Amino acid sequence: METLPAKSSAKAPAERFTGEVYVDSIYRGQEPSRMIASAVTFIPGARSNWHSHTRGQTLHCTHGIGLVVNRDGTVLTLRPGETVWTPPGEEHWHGATEGNLMCHLALLETDDNGEDTTWLEQVTDEQYRVAHVHT
Ligand code: MN
Repeated sequence: METLPAKSSAKAPAERFTGEVYVDSIYRGQEPSRMIASAVTFIPGARSNWHSHTRGQTLHCTHGIGLVVNRDGTVLTLRPGETVWTPPGEEHWHGATEGNLMCHLALLETDDNGEDTTWLEQVTDEQYRVAHVHT
């Protein structure tokens, strides 16, 4: 066993996220592992773009209050201790609420081509606002 070296928090890229988002990489599996584990912190108002995961994704909230939204309009509120699974190919976004930051663990796997996520367009301010009606 070994203690892995600590890494700096990385600011998530503006072409994939709106607002301030920081990613702390926990683990990126070496073959035969395909696991990717990260802790992601969204500042209030921040969210991902729309996207889907080739092998699905598990989100586990560790702090704050967040939202997970899919194309059919389903909105799930994410609170500490709660876990949300998004199946392969299901388009969705996740982020903080307007009033609270949100930290979640993001757990996923790469596919046979080494891909894990298909990134799509930004979540508009209107789409983000409407998602709060359900919380
Ligand atoms: Mn996702």
